[in-house]
Amino acid sequence: MILRAPAKINLGLDVLRKREDGYHEVKMVMQTVAMFDTVELTETRESGITLETNRSFLPVNENNLAYKAASLLMQEFGVTSGLHIRLQKFIPVAAGLAGGSSDAAAVLVGASRLFGLGLTPQDLMVRGKKIGADVPYCILGGTALAEGIGEILTPLPAMPDCSILLAKPSFSVSTKEIYTALRADELTDHPDIDGMIQALREGDLDGITSRCDNVLERVTAPRHPMIGQLEEEMRSFGAAVSIMSGSGPTVFGIFKDPDAALACKAALLERPGMGKVFAANPMAGRRF
Ligand code: ATP
Repeated sequence: MILRAPAKINLGLDVLRKREDGYHEVKMVMQTVAMFDTVELTETRESGITLETNRSFLPVNENNLAYKAASLLMQEFGVTSGLHIRLQKFIPVAAGLAGGSSDAAAVLVGASRLFGLGLTPQDLMVRGKKIGADVPYCILGGTALAEGIGEILTPLPAMPDCSILLAKPSFSVSTKEIYTALRADELTDHPDIDGMIQALREGDLDGITSRCDNVLERVTAPRHPMIGQLEEEMRSFGAAVSIMSGSGPTVFGIFKDPDAALACKAALLERPGMGKVFAANPMAGRRF
């Protein structure tokens, strides 16, 4: 069984407060984009889980979110046969694109089908939350409002079509470090998430792009000047908006003209310190 695990971006990301348990309460507009890892699942006669991946620096044990997802389901349901996971990563790692969470979501959906566990998307989302706050969203996909620690989800109307250019600098950023450095109670200007939701309901791309904002950028961007430079370059090529995704360092730009996005991609690839650059379209959620 082969599944595609798409990346996500945050069209809007607000942090409302830090809870007593240390987690942050967020209000985010999530959007799936059509760039993928692939997850191949094979049932094996020998019990246990094995994992292979094209990224040699990633763990191939419980510390890999794809492995963890399989282990959680198989233990709970007493699956006696084994599972081999072949994970091909194309989504940059530790980039703000939720690649690991999406791999875990794909494994939950795939393993439930492969072993005939008959779990509903809701059942899978409950298990997904134990793996990571973004996993339930990765099961749902599409355009959605994420609240709580990211696990309380409300599907939103699909984003109007456009070209999304994603640029990942060659350095990575630790999500934990950025959240730790954020002073949520000192944030004065918050993204207009409610206005963005209204714009989505109206199918108003200008209304959406004018409200794209991410409070984590206030922490990550001053540490890494390249983030601001990439945004400026995307805007100079005609992006309606360009901001950072998640805790970064990936920057995305929203273009109405796909040719302008491709011209910008070619220019960005010339930059020193540039990692990967992808052009993709927004994707609707899974139709369960
Ligand atoms: P988010 O946007 O949810 O913060 P991210 O894109 O910043 O996620 P990921 O690429 O999902 O980050 O992974 C972050 C960390 O998780 C990495 O440091 C990596 O070692 C670990 N990890 C475990 N399993 C995976 C996986 N299958 N793919 C990528 N990273 C994984």
